[in-house]
Amino acid sequence: MTKRLLGSTVTNEIILKCRKECEELKSKGIKPQLAVLRVGENKSDISYETSIIKLMAKADISVKSVVLKEDISQEDFDNNLKVLNDNDKIHGILVFRPLPKQLDEDKIKYLINPNKDIDCFSPINLAKVFISDNSGFYPCTPLGVMEILDHYDIELEGKEVVLIGRSLVVGKPLSMMLLDRNATVTICHSKTKNLKEVCKKADVLIAAVGRGNMVNKDYIKPGAVVIDVGINFVDGKMCGDVDFESAYETAGRITPVPGGVGSVTTSCLMVNLIKACKMVK
Ligand code: NDP
Repeated sequence: MTKRLLGSTVTNEIILKCRKECEELKSKGIKPQLAVLRVGENKSDISYETSIIKLMAKADISVKSVVLKEDISQEDFDNNLKVLNDNDKIHGILVFRPLPKQLDEDKIKYLINPNKDIDCFSPINLAKVFISDNSGFYPCTPLGVMEILDHYDIELEGKEVVLIGRSLVVGKPLSMMLLDRNATVTICHSKTKNLKEVCKKADVLIAAVGRGNMVNKDYIKPGAVVIDVGINFVDGKMCGDVDFESAYETAGRITPVPGGVGSVTTSCLMVNLIKACKMVK
């Protein structure tokens, strides 16, 4: 049994599965294609886009990049999105966020075609997560966490799962997905009292806090599974929300940062894209 839950192993399995499914789709005349909609030349967006293109190529999925000017108007942005919404050759759309100030994300999230919304941007898809309707798209980070738990055969039914963080991107949707697997879920946040004691009850502890190295061995029940969603930079170095060195001895199994959840998140775009292709009639 591996103690370090590596994201790369999970990602490789996802790629293999998606490549096979992609071949099957192609044999039926469906050629999976993702569109990324980027506004401006933000360095981290460009590097994310490059990594998506590389990853998708591994499953033979093509990516159409649509790059719009930084000062694009709402109307022009909306028109570009509508073109992608209506293009039958595009199965999934990823809008890079945050968008520049002149663009209204709250409007755009209602505009994206929910059947192509592989990043779970649309409130329709988010709502589906909360009503246990599997016909939409799960947000990629929570889905990545579930893929890791499943890949490593981590039992959830009847287990105490404690989540630190209640954001709409990670904590809340993930709590619903865990409940659907019959885990007993506790959600903690900045106002939670006795956080350490609550966390120490967890069979599975998931940290999505955004505070570098906050969770140490004092939060962990011996033998617990620890999933670190955090991506932080402390003294110029990437680290998770969990202090890995402190937690490693106490935890039964643990995801590292980097090399854990973050690396699986991007491959979940692929999982969702294949799902979108299968929706095509
Ligand atoms: P948010 O800032 O939106 O949410 C953080 C949550 O943590 C909030 O619910 C907040 O509580 C809670 N929190 C903050 N401080 C404390 C504290 N001291 N004790 C207990 N709870 C606390 O962050 P996100 O959910 O967007 O992201 C969380 C982390 O995950 C970040 O490090 C982010 O970089 C990372 N991330 C990683 C991804 C990946 O692919 N691996 C993708 C997305 C995010 P309250 O609600 O009360 O404010």
